[in-house]
Amino acid sequence: MFRDITTLLQDPIGLRNTIEKIVARYRNEKIDKVVGIESRGFIIAAPVAYALGAGFVPVRKQGKLPSATIGCDYQLEYGHDRVEIHVDAVNENDRVLLIDDLIATGGTMEAALKLMLDMKAEVIECCFVINLPTVGGAERLQKQGYKLYSLCSFE
Ligand code: IMP
Repeated sequence: MFRDITTLLQDPIGLRNTIEKIVARYRNEKIDKVVGIESRGFIIAAPVAYALGAGFVPVRKQGKLPSATIGCDYQLEYGHDRVEIHVDAVNENDRVLLIDDLIATGGTMEAALKLMLDMKAEVIECCFVINLPTVGGAERLQKQGYKLYSLCSFE
């Protein structure tokens, strides 16, 4: 089943509550960059970055970013994919918050986390609107030592 945030976003109170709840959690974390994962992660990450006074950085699928990039390949159920980030988007020791709409297997966020490792950023937390705990991605990344937060979960 595909879980969809568009009905949440089109609701004025739903949109406001979503952004405000995330902003409140990280307000005192001195976040330098909010990294949004293509494409629904962008919708959440940009207003959160604005409210936190941080920069917004996109992580995109292969070949979409206009300048020099570094990338990370990751496995899908059938085949593989690649995410990329501009080489100069995150500085060493930047305090980074990563945001996507949903975590399932965790493969996408894990690839983005590898990019943060390459860039020597300090990852504060990975934030999602939705966690699908039965798929197990969130638990897998937590076991690797990453901090994860989601606004809601669906079995
Ligand atoms: P994962 O890599 O398996 O954790 O999948 C998460 C990525 O795929 C995110 O970027 C999501 O936008 C997308 N995704 C996977 N399943 C769904 C779903 O049910 N609804 C919305 N997005 C999904």
